[in-house]
Amino acid sequence: MSSHLSFFEQVNRYFEQAASYLKIEPGLLQQIKSCNSVYRISFPLRRDDGSMQVIHAWRAEHSHHKTPAKGGIRYAMSVNEDEVMALAALMTYKCAVVNVPYGGGKGGVKIDTREYSIPEIERITRRYTFELVRKNFIGPGIDVPAPDYGTSKREMAWIVDTYRSLGPNDLSAEACVTGKPVTQGGVAGRTEATGRGCFFGIREAVSVKEDMKKLGLDTGLDGKKVIVQGLGNVGYHAAKFLHDEGAMIVAVSEIEGTLYDESGLDFEKLISYRTETGSIKDFPGAKSMDDPSVALTLPCDILVPAALENQITIENADQIQAKIVAEAANGPVTADATQKLHERGVMILPDIYLNAGGVTVSYFEWLRNLQHAKLGLMDKRFEENTNTKILQTVENALGKKFDPKVIAKVAQGADEIDLVNSGLEETMVVAYQEIREIQKSHKNVDLRTAAFISAISKIAVDYEELGIFP
Ligand code: NAD
Repeated sequence: MSSHLSFFEQVNRYFEQAASYLKIEPGLLQQIKSCNSVYRISFPLRRDDGSMQVIHAWRAEHSHHKTPAKGGIRYAMSVNEDEVMALAALMTYKCAVVNVPYGGGKGGVKIDTREYSIPEIERITRRYTFELVRKNFIGPGIDVPAPDYGTSKREMAWIVDTYRSLGPNDLSAEACVTGKPVTQGGVAGRTEATGRGCFFGIREAVSVKEDMKKLGLDTGLDGKKVIVQGLGNVGYHAAKFLHDEGAMIVAVSEIEGTLYDESGLDFEKLISYRTETGSIKDFPGAKSMDDPSVALTLPCDILVPAALENQITIENADQIQAKIVAEAANGPVTADATQKLHERGVMILPDIYLNAGGVTVSYFEWLRNLQHAKLGLMDKRFEENTNTKILQTVENALGKKFDPKVIAKVAQGADEIDLVNSGLEETMVVAYQEIREIQKSHKNVDLRTAAFISAISKIAVDYEELGIFP
């Protein structure tokens, strides 16, 4: 039964479903589907109490049809070889869907970060980086990690520092990893990029009248009831941008439980409450429940799973009340549950499209590191001067002066953050249109299959043009 499929097998099932719509040589399909290399590492950690422990870690490079390979590093107890291979494969398809020129990669360290001190996590991260360097599994042109579940810009700073110290003469060393702090070569807007990208994707989906009509929904985000599972980097930012744009966050869940308020949670107050108490539990005015999985089955329009894979399964698929499931996490809906939800007419915004904002902005960061200059550095003042001249010409033609404050605002040149956000928006909008076009041109094809069709056809063209290495 397909419910026994591993995560990687589930990804391959989506791949095969999509491939059946394409006329591509079976051997080439096999090559696209295969995971090219996996590096398995075990190394010792000296714990703060003096004891020694063995840490298990992996890095998978799913595809080298474009280099470098790109994908996050996850710190979680779920990490194993199959998981990194599945996540690396999703990265390959994701990059192709959003036209970012990378192969897919993913790394993982099997630890529960709550069990380790910060110095221990630093030792683990630096040793892991060292092991990747030793086997050529990291480098600006080879394989470029980024944050994922359980990691953040803090770990990326340790990675770049370790990498740099092992090759001090490498001018492009900063490009060995993305998602770094801005002071360490990071790009403005990377931290929130995945959540912002999810917001753009959901906004695109709910703007299509024909699709919303089928779901019995109005277009637009205003007043839409949203539930978010996992308030980490991706979930928090997705919720924040959706909330800022008028959606109603009716429930959230974290490891400690679920909060529900059908009239909408006061999101800002909730975040301050969580910062103060360290938990979402017992937030005043909302119903607090101990079970985090309840959140998935409460009434809403849009459900945003933003924690880990295999959350919506054959067991709870029938209880899902959402009309749209927006996969902010990777693989949150199993293959069986996908089928069930589609049979019930639920729209799934697939991970390989929806959470691609992170890798998109990582691409901008990598380009920034390779060009050794802030994005927009050379154009900002020029743009400002040109805009001011245009406004002055209009003033002269009208014989009327504008308010200098208005001129300063309108003439303003783009900062790095403006360029990053507009590049991200463009990427997410264009990719959605591409997927929708594919969906429309096939009968009964869902968005996940359409996204896979988009990815596979682009990768196949790449391989065909490359020729096969003898
Ligand atoms: P994160 O570690 O910042 O946050 C995850 C949050 O989920 C944590 O706060 C955790 O406590 C919570 N959580 C875990 N299990 C839960 C459960 N059962 N119920 C409710 N909450 C739970 O991780 P992240 O970077 O936000 O990543 C989340 C997902 O998004 C992962 O699947 C990851 O692969 C995917 N993703 C992340 C990025 C990125 O840029 N960080 C990019 C693309 C995809």
